[in-house]
Amino acid sequence: MIIPIEIPPNTVMFKGISLDSNIYLVRDENEVLLVDTGTGSFFNSYKAVVEREMYLSEVSRAIILNTHEHFDHIGGNWLWKEYLEGLGIKVFFASHEKTSKSLEKGDDHTILSYYYGRHYKPHKVDIKLKDGDYLRIGSLELEVIHTPGHTSGSICLYEPNEMLLFTGDTVFYHTVGRTDMPTGNFEDLIKSIERLREFQVYIGLPGHGKMIQNWKENMEIIKRLIERYI
Ligand SMILES: [Zn+2]
Repeated sequence: MIIPIEIPPNTVMFKGISLDSNIYLVRDENEVLLVDTGTGSFFNSYKAVVEREMYLSEVSRAIILNTHEHFDHIGGNWLWKEYLEGLGIKVFFASHEKTSKSLEKGDDHTILSYYYGRHYKPHKVDIKLKDGDYLRIGSLELEVIHTPGHTSGSICLYEPNEMLLFTGDTVFYHTVGRTDMPTGNFEDLIKSIERLREFQVYIGLPGHGKMIQNWKENMEIIKRLIERYI
């Protein structure tokens, strides 16, 4: 049984089941943004909640955004796209231009699909993002922050009104994402963390684990953690 975590006024968090990334749904007017899609293995569980709570009623346009190309964040892309289109919703995929390359190629090496015993069926990415771009959902504007380190095309998304920051696998509660996988780079991660420290964040919404409610303290803990490795 999944209990969605509602973060008023616009955001719902689904804690990832098992290896799944967390999945976020941001809604404004008749548009919706989905941040990451998990492995796809538990798609039906999330879908049941979305239907029960009617999160998608009257929605006509959806963006499925991937914070990076790891399989646990994109494995549900096709399932969500097909489900949303079945509801008559127009669906667009969005990710950083570097992440887009992996997804359009179906690059199982960088996607890590083999780790899950799977091949990733490639797809076109409609919206290729770079640092400083904005994603518009209804009246909301979310800023794209390019934060390489965990992967070269990792992004965070910042919603300035509610001061929400979707951090993907760059920042977690009290720790950071690993950098020992394809395109990972520890030096880049340190720079990305430095940059994110400056943001005014009310709630940090990571790709795994629980939400981050004290941003400044969390980033101090991470700073001390990193200092032990440099
Ligand atoms: Zn990852």
